[in-house]
Amino acid sequence: ATPLSITIATGKAAQCGVLFRNAQALEGSAHVQVVVFDKTGTITQGRPRLVAAVAMDGTPLDDRVLALVAAAERRSEHPLAQAIVDEAAGRGLALPDATAFRALAGQGVTARVDGHDVTVGNGTLVAATAQSEPFVREQTARGATPILAAIDGEGAALLAVSDTVKPDARQAIAKLHEHGVQVVLLTGDHEATAHTVAREVGIDHVIAQVRPESKERVIAAIQEQGLQVAMVGDGINDAPALARADVGMAMGTGTDVAMESADVTLMHGSVMAVPTALDIAHATMRNIR
Ligand code: ADP
Ligand code: MG
Repeated sequence: ATPLSITIATGKAAQCGVLFRNAQALEGSAHVQVVVFDKTGTITQGRPRLVAAVAMDGTPLDDRVLALVAAAERRSEHPLAQAIVDEAAGRGLALPDATAFRALAGQGVTARVDGHDVTVGNGTLVAATAQSEPFVREQTARGATPILAAIDGEGAALLAVSDTVKPDARQAIAKLHEHGVQVVLLTGDHEATAHTVAREVGIDHVIAQVRPESKERVIAAIQEQGLQVAMVGDGINDAPALARADVGMAMGTGTDVAMESADVTLMHGSVMAVPTALDIAHATMRNIR
């Protein structure tokens, strides 16, 4: 590989919003066979909005219950939590202080609020009931993430949060497929939600309900099949998987931790930057050989 051609290529890539960390990152990108995408903040905008909030009997959620749930979520850094806190703020609710707050990665949160035990999260954390099942089915079919809340161990609220897919995601995935690259969606979100989002953008392999600490193992398992893998992510959660992948690509709109773990940074959060990065790498390595 001639240093000059690599310098020229990385400069050209930078103009397209693709920052290669070094020559190895460019070289590795030319050999990628599988691209694994994180969902939230990578394929979707990462700005979830609350789209449903009901009591267990399906009636609109009252302010008192929403305030308890939002008070627990206020201490969380998860984007889903922000959507719930925003709804409470929109209703002008005063949130009580939460104590004994615990964030359970990839599951949800628990806290003590106003003398009540409040638990908010997915089906692993808050058990499904006969009432929650149809709600979960309906919301996941629309691509929304269901969130269940229990107060003092009793189901109290059904919420759903939805995040829009990025406008260029579909085109970017079509481009990767054209180049014979396999594409996978990897997420901690509900299986059915992940499938709906995947269908929307044309991804046909889905690995969902993966715990944050297992994402790295998923990458390793694909590599064990003898495949060269790129992982694209934005979150702190994604850092070990980005480091494990043959090429880690971080969204420039994401966390610093993700960018520090990555070989390539994609400015402006564009998904099209992924096929662009692979194209530039291909063209450069072709010229070198
Ligand atoms: P992702 O793969 O999108 O980064 P996470 O691993 O962070 O997802 O979380 C997986 C799932 O755990 C979420 O889809 C949600 O159902 C649940 N969850 C995580 N944190 C919270 C929270 N603060 N409030 C409610 N649910 C949560
Ligand atoms: Mg993410």
